[in-house]
Amino acid sequence: MALIELKGIQKSYPDGSGRSNTILRDVSFSVEKGESVAVTGPSGSGKTTLLRMLGTLLEPDEGTYLLDGENPFANPYEVRNRKIGFVFQDHRLLPQYTVLQNVLLPCLAISSSASQDQIAYARSLMSRTGIEALEAQYPSTLSGGEAGRVALCRALVMQPLLVLADEPTGQLDSDNAGAILSLLTELVKERSTTLIMVTHSEQTAAAAARRLCIENRTVIEK
Ligand code: ADP
Ligand code: MG
Repeated sequence: MALIELKGIQKSYPDGSGRSNTILRDVSFSVEKGESVAVTGPSGSGKTTLLRMLGTLLEPDEGTYLLDGENPFANPYEVRNRKIGFVFQDHRLLPQYTVLQNVLLPCLAISSSASQDQIAYARSLMSRTGIEALEAQYPSTLSGGEAGRVALCRALVMQPLLVLADEPTGQLDSDNAGAILSLLTELVKERSTTLIMVTHSEQTAAAAARRLCIENRTVIEK
């Protein structure tokens, strides 16, 4: 069954002079449960726009988006917290919280405290990604590669159906980029999590089984 079904999606932004600038038009594609997909395109082609839409952070102007058979915009906050994990290029860790607290943040969005099971699962992810010894440290003390691992654990801690990654290796050197990508693809595979990552890097995209590309404002199979 398709986890994601997009039909005839269109998105424009105001261009500042009263006109609108079409970024995406007639975007239609489906993604099956458990698929790993990379979407490539040059800078400014609409990759982040597409990802934000898939993550219910941005509504399309036209077209339909079904996630797990439902319109996610009917209840975007709930859908985001329960079904979607995000990995951002700049990690976006909160400086006032420890590594473990950062990993547990998605659990705290829907409850006042994390359960013992959630804490145990967070620790197992941290151990898998080699950051278990860092749990009491603060983000400012981490290297880029370590921060990337924290961001990965945070995206996976709720065991989401869908992981969305925006240039997940953008700020890492090639050794760390390779390590993060293998961890990401390995961890999503284990739970048949669907992965969609957008990137301008062909090398990063090669880690995904399926390739899509934004060309002439629409998404095509590559
Ligand atoms: P990419 O991630 O591929 O670099 P984006 O999706 O960030 O591309 O942006 C696509 C285009 O839309 C760019 O030209 C960008 O300047 C424009 N854009 C993005 N966000 C906004 C916004 N909130 N308002 C107006 N224009 C925007
Ligand atoms: Mg972008």
